[in-house]
Amino acid sequence: MSLEASFLTLEQLVHVFALSKTATAIHIGEDAKIQFANEAMLHIWGRDKSVIGKSLEDALPELKGQPFIEMFAKVWREGLTISGNDTAAELVINGELKTFYFDFEYRAIKDENGKVISVLHSAIDVTERFLNREELNQAKENKELLLREQSLNEELAAANEEMLAINEELSKSREELTLLNDELEKRVEERVKEFAESEERFRTMAEGTDVLIAVSDVNGKPFYFNKAWSKTTGRALKKLLEKGWIDLLHPDDKEDYLAAHRNALVDKVSYTGEFRVKDAEDNYHWLLKKGTPRFFNDGSFIGYISSCVDITERKLAEKALQEIHEELATSNEELSALNEEITSSIEELELSHRELAISEDRFRNLIKQAPFGICVIRANDLMVIEVNDEYLEVVGRKREEIENRTIWDAVAEAAESYAPVLQNVVDTAIPFKAMEHEVVLVKNGIPKSVFLDFVYEPVSNGLGTVSSIMVVVIDVTDKVKARRAIEDVEERVRLAVEAAEMGTYEYNYISDELTSSDRFNQIFGFDHNVSRNQILATYHPLDKNLSDEAHEKAKITGRLFYETRLLFADQSLRWVRILGKVYYNEFGERTRLLGTVLDVTEYKRLQQQKDDFISIASHELKTPITSLKASLQLLERMKANPTPLLPRLIEQSTKSMGKISELVEDLLNVSRMNEGQIRLNKKPFVIAGMLENCCGHIRQEGKYELVVEGNETLEVLADEHRIEQVVVNFVNNAVKYAPDFKQIFIAVERLGDVAKVAVIDKGPGIAPDKLPHLFDRYYRADETGAQVSGLGLGLYISSEIISRHGGEIGVESELGKGSTFWFTLPLS
Ligand code: ADP
Repeated sequence: MSLEASFLTLEQLVHVFALSKTATAIHIGEDAKIQFANEAMLHIWGRDKSVIGKSLEDALPELKGQPFIEMFAKVWREGLTISGNDTAAELVINGELKTFYFDFEYRAIKDENGKVISVLHSAIDVTERFLNREELNQAKENKELLLREQSLNEELAAANEEMLAINEELSKSREELTLLNDELEKRVEERVKEFAESEERFRTMAEGTDVLIAVSDVNGKPFYFNKAWSKTTGRALKKLLEKGWIDLLHPDDKEDYLAAHRNALVDKVSYTGEFRVKDAEDNYHWLLKKGTPRFFNDGSFIGYISSCVDITERKLAEKALQEIHEELATSNEELSALNEEITSSIEELELSHRELAISEDRFRNLIKQAPFGICVIRANDLMVIEVNDEYLEVVGRKREEIENRTIWDAVAEAAESYAPVLQNVVDTAIPFKAMEHEVVLVKNGIPKSVFLDFVYEPVSNGLGTVSSIMVVVIDVTDKVKARRAIEDVEERVRLAVEAAEMGTYEYNYISDELTSSDRFNQIFGFDHNVSRNQILATYHPLDKNLSDEAHEKAKITGRLFYETRLLFADQSLRWVRILGKVYYNEFGERTRLLGTVLDVTEYKRLQQQKDDFISIASHELKTPITSLKASLQLLERMKANPTPLLPRLIEQSTKSMGKISELVEDLLNVSRMNEGQIRLNKKPFVIAGMLENCCGHIRQEGKYELVVEGNETLEVLADEHRIEQVVVNFVNNAVKYAPDFKQIFIAVERLGDVAKVAVIDKGPGIAPDKLPHLFDRYYRADETGAQVSGLGLGLYISSEIISRHGGEIGVESELGKGSTFWFTLPLS
């Protein structure tokens, strides 16, 4: 062998490596493809040479999920060296996955350019070493644990001893506790008793006090009210418990109180409040309430106890005080305002004082020259301080009688009526106005009634009080008298027009306007004003031209007068009389006419009746006068040699004369009656006696039979001659109007305190519509159509005679059956 050692070939080198005990492998590329692995490495991997040329992952699939493949890649990419000690790797050896521990290195091998060409992988299996160390560590730990347990045990033993001691103490204190418990129970019992007593005390106290006390539960709902509550609210305790008392709160206080109560309840604190509650009479009481929360000893809340005190009086006093305060404040303000005003007024006064002096002069002049009476009177003492001549004239006084005197000293006669009035003006500053007051004034010693318009005008000073009164007066006596005279005349005319039921009207010739009174319209059948033409349309066709003719005449005479008939739609007729006065203007033209209209229908009727009567009366008289005249002529002729006719002629004449004097007697009776000249000569007489003797003429004639029936003794107090006249009249009528019936009955009977006499005939009777008029003057029914003579006065005279005796007269009649004429007289 040569001394000089020669370098090994590559194969030799690989061989060397292959034998190295250090597990070595060479990897290429990112996937760590195995280029070389020695026996030691293959042993670690548990693989054979077949893994050469495979990537690490293909060679050792169990490395998937372990960090090594990625480490290789990182070393390859970045040219690093990564190493580790006791690093665990899981490998499948002999088909079993086991954990091994390695010290390893992955070193990047670079070429001269620094490019990584391979990764040198060396590893030593330190599993055994690692495991040993682990075991050692475990043993050490176990030992430490043991030591610790031991010391713990010692501690425990000590503690045990202590426990025993404590236990002893405990059982001792348990005994104490039992004792304590007993004690406590006793005390609780006492407390309960005390509590019951204190509750009793509380109730006695609560019920006896005026303070309103209530107790409520946790929810604030009261479960106790004392008597004072129901006394104040007027609500029974039971109802208070059911319904509470919130509804009795004054509406203005309710919200505040409820809010305060609610808030206090939330925080369980005390609260106070003032509010009003209503009593049974709806009066409000002010209450001051204080609520205090209640707690158990352990601090738990159990509700409230509240007390209320009636503070109404205090409140009222407060209010009064408040009002006084306010008043004081306002009066204070007013005072200071007044003060200011006064200050400025004083200034103004000073200024106006000077102006016043000037205007006073002017005022005096004015009073002096005024066309009416003025008198100025000082208010405080009623002294006259200024008076003008006109006033002196009105009151009829001299200046010295008025000046420097009080007004009622000066005009004493007016004091009674006007002193109070004047004083009222002074007191109230309200003026007094008198219109046409009638005042009696003493002028030159003679009382004279005058009419005055006057005013009491208050004159105020700047401060509003009346300082003087200005009397302004005008004598209106003449004016009032003149007006009253006119009013009197007007009144009289009005009364006359009214009494006469006169219609009045005014007709305007220029405008053809007609203004008329209600009565005027009524007469013409209208109920409203109408035109002249409408009035003319009511005229009777035959009277149509009367109005125009009358107006034509009136044009000259100035007086309008005519009477005309009006014919109405119902064919009724009315007579009117129209009277008027024409008024002219300065040219002598008619301007208007004032007129009256009077309904004269009744007047016309009476006139007609009178005319009729005269014609009847003359006709009635004419018959007996003619026959008397004829008898007298015949007698005249046979005066020289009387013939046997003479006695008959004389008889005839006497009969005619009797007829005439009968008629004249009737006429005289009527006129006497009208003038109230009939004098009654009353004496008691028996009716039957009078009847036996009356109507001699009829009995003598013998044509008719008078049958007297009834009470024969009845006596009346009356004028026998007049009563006989009535009976004769009844009997005559029976003969006249029922000539065919020969019997005439006269019945006498007593009706209470009157006697009734009735004359009964069986003649033709009288129609019912005529009956009411039979006793009227001049009335003649003329039912038969037979011309029976008569003046229509007999029954009228009869009724007058009976009524003057205080009796009644009447008739009952039926057509075809006869008539009963009767009268009554008071018994004597
Ligand atoms: P005179 O007989 O003069 O007409 P009177 O006053 O006596 O007047 O009577 C009034 C009217 O009463 C008479 O016109 C007559 O129509 C009516 N009258 C009076 N008595 C009777 C009678 N007994 N029967 C029917 N009519 C009578």
